[in-house]
Amino acid sequence: MFEEHGVVFIIAVGGETTLYRDRLQAIADECRKRWTWFWMVSNLLPNPADPDFDPFSAFDNGYVIASVDGVEKHHDDSRKRKGLYDVVESRLFAAAGAGRTILTTTTVHVGNLDQIEPILSRFKGHGILSTLEFATPINEAANLMFHVVGERREAAIDRIFALKMKWGWQLNVSPLMLELMRTRNVRRWGGPKNCPSVRYAISVTTEGVRKSPCVLAGGAELVPSCSNCGCHVPTLFLGALRFDILTLITAFWFLRRGRKVNTEAMSELATV
Ligand code: SF4
Repeated sequence: MFEEHGVVFIIAVGGETTLYRDRLQAIADECRKRWTWFWMVSNLLPNPADPDFDPFSAFDNGYVIASVDGVEKHHDDSRKRKGLYDVVESRLFAAAGAGRTILTTTTVHVGNLDQIEPILSRFKGHGILSTLEFATPINEAANLMFHVVGERREAAIDRIFALKMKWGWQLNVSPLMLELMRTRNVRRWGGPKNCPSVRYAISVTTEGVRKSPCVLAGGAELVPSCSNCGCHVPTLFLGALRFDILTLITAFWFLRRGRKVNTEAMSELATV
């Protein structure tokens, strides 16, 4: 497929990518031949069948994007698993302390809209960057109790713009990408015909079966609502196609680290 379609970059997304170490290794090997990198999205739960596997250090050309829905109980509640956040955070801090470049990603829904800033605040001191996207309705137009669409998305994006001004590159999303995520703009580029994810990306299952229209689909059973799409990947493509410099900086997050704050020195200062 690399050869046939001229693939230059791969993103492994969930399910849970770290359950498929052999496939990640195959991706790493293929990318290395082409001098490119790959990303793997993970919930960072250790795999009991492969407890020694450390995705942060396993591949010199692979970078981990960690799913974080909120801080502490907010993540646990969103994932319906008590204690999960503590596991995720300790793995993230250990990897960042060992010098790994890491991005967290938050799928924003009604229940965690207020968690964007706590996440930025929690990870900034450790040199870990954060990004976000909105949950996309699957097999439905939109559930207003869950999906942030329409006027609510407008208001949310206005607030995220303010956070971007405050937190700068700690929030790894460009202004253009945010603008393109407004529902009224999504309706201009979204859909199986025009969507950049359909035009410039190929999505396959772990068995190599092609997904249509995009990575969010799951055969005939799981059909994403393009008009309410919250995925940030198409906006990354659109920004890159316009040579928007801030979107290009966003895309190359793995070549830079967040600013690491010396918290020990800060606490000493605080006690003077
Ligand atoms: S769901 Fe979003 S990313 Fe997928 S094809 Fe539709 S608009 Fe594109």
